[in-house]
Amino acid sequence: MIEIKNLVAEIEGKRILDGLNLTIHDGEVAAIMGPNGSGKSTLSYIIAGKEDYEILDGEVLLDGENVLEMEPSERAAAGVFLAFQYPLEIPGVATMTFLKAALNAQRRAREETELTTPEFMKAVQDAAGKLEIPRDMLKRALNVGFSGGEKKRMEILQMALLEPRFCILDETDSGLDIDALRVVSEGVNALRAPNRSFLVITHYQRLLQYIVPDTVHVMANGKIMRSGGKELAEELEANGYADYKAQEAA
Ligand code: ADP
Ligand code: MG
Ligand code: MG
Repeated sequence: MIEIKNLVAEIEGKRILDGLNLTIHDGEVAAIMGPNGSGKSTLSYIIAGKEDYEILDGEVLLDGENVLEMEPSERAAAGVFLAFQYPLEIPGVATMTFLKAALNAQRRAREETELTTPEFMKAVQDAAGKLEIPRDMLKRALNVGFSGGEKKRMEILQMALLEPRFCILDETDSGLDIDALRVVSEGVNALRAPNRSFLVITHYQRLLQYIVPDTVHVMANGKIMRSGGKELAEELEANGYADYKAQEAA
C-alpha cells in the first residue's frame, strides 16, 4: 500500500505541493487528473527522488517505509518506477545494454544474482514481442531518433522487466497516436497485478478509457481536491477544471 501523507514541497521558494494526501491500495490503479501546473509532475519527481525540491513536510510510505528517506537506487530496488513524460535519450548506449544494466543494478540492490546473458535475452525478447517492439530497435541507442510512440513502448518494456511494486506514469499518453496508445495501454494492463499499484497521471480522459482506473483524484493547487471512481474522469472531461481553480481562489 502507498500512503502519501500531508506532502508539502517547494521549488525556489514557490509552494508546489500543499498538504497532499493520497492512499493507493495494492493492485489499485489510481488516476490523478488536474490542470497544467497543478503539481502533478512535481509529485512524481519527488517520489522518484529528483533532488530539485525542498520537502517541508509529509511522507510517502511504501508498505510503511518512507520512500523520501531512500536514495534513488534504493527506491528502484524497493520497486518504485517512474515513466517520464519526456524520456531520456542516451546516445552511444544500445537500448539492450541499458536495459541489462538497469535490471542487474536493481538485482544487485536487492541482493539477487544477476541474470546471465541468455536469461536476459529471453526476458527482453518475450517482453518486447508483447509490446510489438522490433528486435532491431533494441540494438539502437536508447530513445535516440525514436518516435514518441516508440519511446513510450520502450518505457513500458523497462517497466515489464523491472517488475515494480509502484508504477507512476506521468502523461504517458502525450504525443501518442491511437495505435501506440492501445499498445502502451495493453502493456500496462498486462502488468496489473495484486501486489502492484499504479499512479496514472493525465489531463485527458482518453488514456483512462484504455487503462480503466479504480479511483480518480482531482489535483489542483498542490493538493487532492476530490476523489471518486472512474466516472469522475468523465465528469471532468465534460466540465473542465474551472470549479477546482475557483474553489481555491474563493
Ligand atoms: P503539472 O505536471 O501538473 O503540469 P508541474 O509539477 O510540472 O505541474 O509544475 C507545478 C508548478 O511548479 C508550475 O507552476 C511550474 O511552473 C512550477 N515549477 C516546476 N518546476 C519548476 C522549477 N524548476 N522552477 C520553478 N518552478 C517550477
Ligand atoms: Mg505540465
Ligand atoms: Mg506534468
